[in-house]
Amino acid sequence: MDHSSGAAGRDAADFYDANRHEAVPNQHDTPDAGLKNKKAPAIPVPVASGIASSINQESLRNHNLSVVLRSILHAKRPLSRANLADQTGLTKATISMLIAILQRNAVVSDLQIPATNRFGRPSTPIGFAPRTWAGLGTQINTDGYGYIIKDFTGEVLSESWAEKPMLHADPEQAFSELDALIRPAAAKLRRQGCHIIGGGLALPGLVADGSILLRARNLGWDHIDISQFKMVNSFGLHAVNEANLAAIAQIPGYATCEADKGSPDEEDTPVYPQSFIYISTDIGIGGAYVRNGQVVSGDHGFAGELGHVSVNFNGPLCRCGRNGCAEMYAGRQALVEAADIAYDDAAAAAESLNELLSRWGRHDPRAESAVDQAVRALSSVIASTVNTVDVDTAMLGGFWARVDNSIVQRISAEVNHQVLGSEAMDIQVIKPQVNDHPALHGAAEVGLRRVVENPLSYIEVSEG
Ligand SMILES: [Zn+2]
Repeated sequence: MDHSSGAAGRDAADFYDANRHEAVPNQHDTPDAGLKNKKAPAIPVPVASGIASSINQESLRNHNLSVVLRSILHAKRPLSRANLADQTGLTKATISMLIAILQRNAVVSDLQIPATNRFGRPSTPIGFAPRTWAGLGTQINTDGYGYIIKDFTGEVLSESWAEKPMLHADPEQAFSELDALIRPAAAKLRRQGCHIIGGGLALPGLVADGSILLRARNLGWDHIDISQFKMVNSFGLHAVNEANLAAIAQIPGYATCEADKGSPDEEDTPVYPQSFIYISTDIGIGGAYVRNGQVVSGDHGFAGELGHVSVNFNGPLCRCGRNGCAEMYAGRQALVEAADIAYDDAAAAAESLNELLSRWGRHDPRAESAVDQAVRALSSVIASTVNTVDVDTAMLGGFWARVDNSIVQRISAEVNHQVLGSEAMDIQVIKPQVNDHPALHGAAEVGLRRVVENPLSYIEVSEG
């Protein structure tokens, strides 16, 4: 049954546009269950008997639980049961029943702070229960490996990162070390009653079908079936390109509360939207395209490789075989080499980048010229991508989030000058809100999101 054809109500229609999910009344939940909003078409619930009926009811309940969880995630402030009924179009009785299920499973709990509804009566706000359900994000990158475990409130329950050059590391050894890093922390949290759902494994390369790493040049890894490593299956990890996961960390309300991200009351705080392009910069440059709160990863999962958009036919040969890729101007190693600071492996060292930024600050002409070239390359790629996919926001993640704000403003000005629709659009180029191991945060949110999308696969409906 396709629930997406139903409209839940006036506000909810806009609210759930990102996910095309609306609440559907469950006639069996309460005697008067149903859409309160008369404008919304009623969804006919087939009157069937036996197994078909119970499957149908379970699927409706799963759907409505998911809608309630999404409402809580996207709320700007904690919502009461009445607020949730207003937002979802479900009756208060149905909401109470759904919240009771979520409370029995310790997904949500009543918050202490009393909210006041519009009739002046205090009502209890609902929030995610802390430390009971958690996603596990993991990553193997060029400079090390690590993990993060975080809950729906956004609290990081455990994390660790091992700094280590990973170029040409033995994959078996790498996964075994990552396993040893996570296992004690995960066991401790489980003993405390925390359900660890699993999540993403961020890799710096092309990943097919969640398990085949086709190529990660900066690791020197080719065609590796990730599912052969026991820990990947035992922790429920799904391999994803790191830029896609870093982008997920920037999506408001993806799997941790939107209200907790950013500080919207402060002036000059950028607006973090549901649609944007994300550029992940390191030695190489990756990227992701996010539309309506979902990463658009393409037919094979390879979309968003913004670092390999060529900005110069006659430019230097990139490792991908093309000439003049943006990575050859704006990647960490390329910038350091262009500024004549270091070459080859030494250019990839973290100190070399610090030296570049410091020389740029002292107006060193080579450093300034290298940064100018990189600004042109990035502006060109962003403008081309905006022309292609029509978004208002580009986020510069990775080391480019460390550059002076004046440089980001220059890129923003260049992009706005170059895009075809410049008369009618104002492109904001901004630094991301999560920039400390963002792929790990995104990978942990991927785990939590599984519960949001399919609650009944994880929680029990029955009492006791
Ligand atoms: Zn390339």
